[in-house]
Amino acid sequence: MEKNENGNDARYYYLLEQLLLIMTKVKGFRLRELYDVLGELCRMFRISKGTVQFFQGLNHEMEDRGETFVCYDSGEGGEPVITVRIVTKVNAVVTGSVTMPPGAEPLSPEEYARVDLIIKTVLSFVSRVRLQSVVEMLSFHDEKGFPNTRCLMQYLQKTNEDKALGGKAALHFNLRHFSLVNQEFGEQAGDIAMRNFYEELKKLIGREGIVCRLGGDNFVAVCGQAQLAEVLGFLKGTPVHYDAAAGGRVKVSASAGVYMIPAGFVMQNPGEIMDKIITASQAARSGVKERVAYFDDELQARRERFMRIQQRFPEALRNEEYHVFYQPKIDLQTGTLAGAEALCRWFRDGQVITPDEFIPTLEMSTEICRLDFYMLEHVCRDIRRWMDEGREVVRISVNLSRRHIMDFDLLQNLIDIIDRYGVPHEFIEIELTETTTDVEFRALKRLVTGLQAAGIYTSVDDFGVGYSSLNLIREIPWNVLKIDRSFLPTRQDDPDSARNIMFRYVTAMAKELGLACIAEGVETQSQVELLQESSCVLAQGYFFDRPLPTADFEKRLGDRCYQLV
Ligand code: C2E
Ligand code: CA
Ligand code: CA
Repeated sequence: MEKNENGNDARYYYLLEQLLLIMTKVKGFRLRELYDVLGELCRMFRISKGTVQFFQGLNHEMEDRGETFVCYDSGEGGEPVITVRIVTKVNAVVTGSVTMPPGAEPLSPEEYARVDLIIKTVLSFVSRVRLQSVVEMLSFHDEKGFPNTRCLMQYLQKTNEDKALGGKAALHFNLRHFSLVNQEFGEQAGDIAMRNFYEELKKLIGREGIVCRLGGDNFVAVCGQAQLAEVLGFLKGTPVHYDAAAGGRVKVSASAGVYMIPAGFVMQNPGEIMDKIITASQAARSGVKERVAYFDDELQARRERFMRIQQRFPEALRNEEYHVFYQPKIDLQTGTLAGAEALCRWFRDGQVITPDEFIPTLEMSTEICRLDFYMLEHVCRDIRRWMDEGREVVRISVNLSRRHIMDFDLLQNLIDIIDRYGVPHEFIEIELTETTTDVEFRALKRLVTGLQAAGIYTSVDDFGVGYSSLNLIREIPWNVLKIDRSFLPTRQDDPDSARNIMFRYVTAMAKELGLACIAEGVETQSQVELLQESSCVLAQGYFFDRPLPTADFEKRLGDRCYQLV
């Protein structure tokens, strides 16, 4: 008997030591080993069941929203004999309890103390591990529960250490027109759709890769190159459910930039991969038809050009290398000059660079806003001079990038510039393009209403491209609708072609709403004739004039008349 007691004692100390060893292992922790030791300890003390509950906070405990771990269960049932509850420093609560089956010999005081010690040991372990995983969960996931950038960095670093990045494909993708899903079905449905899209892609990619959200509707995925075709097929468009009841579905698609990581690739820092896929993704986003772009030498060259533009911008602005060109707008009923659009040209090292070369780069940051204010300022300076020289002045429109739209002081800043030169407000028109999100829409409405109240004209630029909604023109008090050149009818078109019908309807509707219409990119005589048959009275395009340097435009201010036929 005594020998047996001693044997039990030795076994108990051995198991306790094992327990501590398992729990303090930094690497290679095995749950199975833990359960084996706990199982043996439970049997030693005639325990039928051992459970642990973890609550993230006191409220969770009150509402019984905890996680339960069953460490051992012999299936004999019974009554709890010891329950221990600890509250951690961060107010997490961990409870542990053990049950003895009916008729089992009660625990002796010494046994009681031993079981109590085991429970406390387990609880302190569980609270530590759970806290770690809660912290990890919080720091590696964003507010919507998607793995975040930190998670991606950890993955890249670890995979790099394992020399397993080579041969994989990295992608940056952006969900296309996802704000429309939010607008159409509500934000909650948008969240569900995004979650389902993510879950399905994650399933497709499997354990060897990863999908993370960088923020908004931007994601990064890493997968095997063999899987890439399937992944791109998925991104091209996949219907996903947008409500929990699994009723409606919406097709979600994405544009993607891909970098095929070469075999043997060793990453110095994650930026190397991120730079490449983001550059490719930007190219894919602006692509007309192709929604996928691969990072290659050409993109690398383009990227370097972008960087140069960004670097040179502050100096170029100081040196006034940006010049205002004016493109006349013509009244088709009278054949006279009705206004002009100010367009930017960059004079650098004896060369003229057109906006398509540098505006998209500047739009990636808020540098574009500085350029827009600079342009407005130069236009106001010109108008001031024309007025002082006694010339007859026409209204000049200035482009304002969408990048400004969330700037709360924008309206006042615009007015301040115009007033600094004492330019009458009706000589200025601000061209704005449509917005895609609700928030931006409200900001746009506020801005246009404010400009309107100040007597400054406003126009919707590029109408007809993208997703110009009718709400945009119905709910916001614009003065002018600028119809994009891709929307212009041509003689070759059947009069009942979609383009022709749309053009007729839009111009008629604009007229009804009291909006002036201007057709952009008018290049031919026959387009002028078609316009004259419509409700569109104003036109701008190479047929009349290209954007002109100031001195040439000033001549137009003098004679004013255009030959229409
Ligand atoms: P946009 O505002 O749609 O300007 C009209 C563009 O169409 C101008 O190109 C103009 O030169 C071109 N265009 C005019 N008539 C014709 C025509 O008959 N046929 C054809 N094919 N094209 C015609 P540009 O000057 O190269 O400007 C391109 C874009 O750059 C502008 O498009 C505008 O979005 C942007 N941009 C130019 N200057 C500024 C600026 O100061 N600020 C901002 N934010 N954007 C600017
Ligand atoms: Ca414009
Ligand atoms: Ca335009």
